[in-house]
Amino acid sequence: MSVPLALRERVLAAVDDVADEMLDFAAALVRIPTVNPPGDAYPDAARAIGDRLARGGFAVSLLEAEGRPEHTPAHPRTNVLGVLEGHAPGPCLHLNGHLDVVPPGAGWTGDPFAGVVRDGRLHGRGASDMKAGIAAAVYAAEALRRAGVRLRGRLEISGTVDEESGGLAGVAWLCERGLIARGRTDYVIIPEPFGASRVCVGHRGVWWFELTTLGRTAHGSMPYLGTSAIDQMAAVLETVRLELLPALAGRTTRMPVVPEGSRRATLNVNAVAGGQAGEPVQTPCVADRCTAIFDRRYLPEEGLEPARAEMQALVERVRSRLPELRYELVDRMIVPPVETPAGSPLVAELARAIREVLGREAELVASPGSYDHKHVARIAGVEQCVAYGPGRLELAHQPDEFCDVADIEASTRVLALAMLGLCGASAG
Ligand SMILES: [Zn+2]
Repeated sequence: MSVPLALRERVLAAVDDVADEMLDFAAALVRIPTVNPPGDAYPDAARAIGDRLARGGFAVSLLEAEGRPEHTPAHPRTNVLGVLEGHAPGPCLHLNGHLDVVPPGAGWTGDPFAGVVRDGRLHGRGASDMKAGIAAAVYAAEALRRAGVRLRGRLEISGTVDEESGGLAGVAWLCERGLIARGRTDYVIIPEPFGASRVCVGHRGVWWFELTTLGRTAHGSMPYLGTSAIDQMAAVLETVRLELLPALAGRTTRMPVVPEGSRRATLNVNAVAGGQAGEPVQTPCVADRCTAIFDRRYLPEEGLEPARAEMQALVERVRSRLPELRYELVDRMIVPPVETPAGSPLVAELARAIREVLGREAELVASPGSYDHKHVARIAGVEQCVAYGPGRLELAHQPDEFCDVADIEASTRVLALAMLGLCGASAG
């Protein structure tokens, strides 16, 4: 939709006017320690966002994830949804950010939850991933309001829980209740930290599985009388390292995954536990069980079934050398690859806004890991979904996380122009 240049300029000026307030808001969100696990302080963050949206004319609901086992009195799963009805029929644009941050971990040089802006950066856990992104979405809408813009259609902004632990009480819950749904929702933008000039169009597939080797126990002083499940697992892991990993490294997807290393198929051994691992008191026994958890990222070009068959064939090869090997292979989680369709009008509008704000072409990227896009695509059935927001992916989950103020401001300009372009507008 074509929007007059004067109106676009007025909106950009309004973003400049709200910039300081936006940074204060982002810093205030960082100061709310929404650490997940366990899922602390969600109601505080949801209310802070809801109050700000309500002052901007949004109809706000706080939505507790009733029916989810992780929604408890100690750690309520509180989502927030703001809806701004336009003055005329038109498309519905939904912006969604996750409230939660991962635990700070070690290695910080300052308080991870101080939430300060210093030297052109917002500092703290969640600065990049993704409280700056939420602030950018909220204040892009606020800038439109202050510029006197009346949108057509409907603008929605949600803050949801638990993205870092799978999003089942967050975006998935909203999608299951039809609050994000095909027929209701036309476009979804998730301001995850890919940076002001990048639009993220999806991710590879995820297959988490658990392999357990089953030995036979015996007294540890006579190990030759038993069969060690740990030794068997060692043989499997060695074969993975020597045979599977080089094969995976040789496969590249056409998806523009960043960083480049994740354009390949990958596998990570997430955990290994065998015998009496973790037991405070040890007795001399041959381990009769060893379990390893694998995180396999498969390419759309590979597919899940071939990836699974390849792993099964590998274990069978080990068994041909170790006939005593018995094992169980169990899926833990499967997330098919998601990809915004080529020729997406949502991508085109963001690319146009990036050109206008930054004077450069948008870089289309795919994410190394999965994020809430999967629920939007699979549960809600909304294909027009991207991630676009301020921050640096490499800083996510790191000590001394920060977000460049210039990136937050540029992303807010882009989001404001994209809202204008997608929902159309007239000056009020
Ligand atoms: Zn994130």
